[in-house]
Amino acid sequence: MGAIIDTRVYEDAPRDDLKRRFRDACSGARPRDHEGYSGTIAEMCDIAKFFDKEFPSENDAYSFISDNHQKWDDAFAVSFFRPAKETERDRKRKAKAKAAYDAVEKQVSDAARKIIEAFFEAKSRFVTCKSCSSKLKRSLLPGRIRYQNGYAYSNGVTVACPLCKTELLSVTALNRIKAGTDKLAKAKAKFEEANKSKPSKKKAWLIGGWCSS
Ligand SMILES: [Zn+2]
Repeated sequence: MGAIIDTRVYEDAPRDDLKRRFRDACSGARPRDHEGYSGTIAEMCDIAKFFDKEFPSENDAYSFISDNHQKWDDAFAVSFFRPAKETERDRKRKAKAKAAYDAVEKQVSDAARKIIEAFFEAKSRFVTCKSCSSKLKRSLLPGRIRYQNGYAYSNGVTVACPLCKTELLSVTALNRIKAGTDKLAKAKAKFEEANKSKPSKKKAWLIGGWCSS
């Protein structure tokens, strides 16, 4: 048996009002032959505790509930601010951040692809595994690297020796790929920051918690 988070959002109101409305919502969610484990607020009866955190987003309030609420307890009510209406300036900022991220992503994944292609297309047709000393024909090595979002991946190994699974790319090549991956992670963090909605001054409450399922 597990648990699922179920919540409701209410505009700011006196706590007694919030409690009454949430109690109604809980009983409304409860079918007549209720036996528990619905994974919904039908498993709750009331608000156990208010946390007037005034988080900058509903997501933050959700994380707080996810991290702190315990299954079988009554609900937590956590305050947050509704997002401000997006302005033309916000939209432009977000579009610019997206374009910047896309450019880095393309640059990083092209660079990684080139490094790996260079390995497969090297003049010397054979490569010797540093670990098991096997002489391997480059063109027959399995699985040219797959890409996802600019990351080269294959169980953490870029090009593996088929016999002992040791990495065959040089340390220099790997460092260059790693530098690209780090650069991309930084660009992603910057993009996500720019893409966040700004909170308004309008307060609301996220009410709920882990419900047995
Ligand atoms: Zn090997």
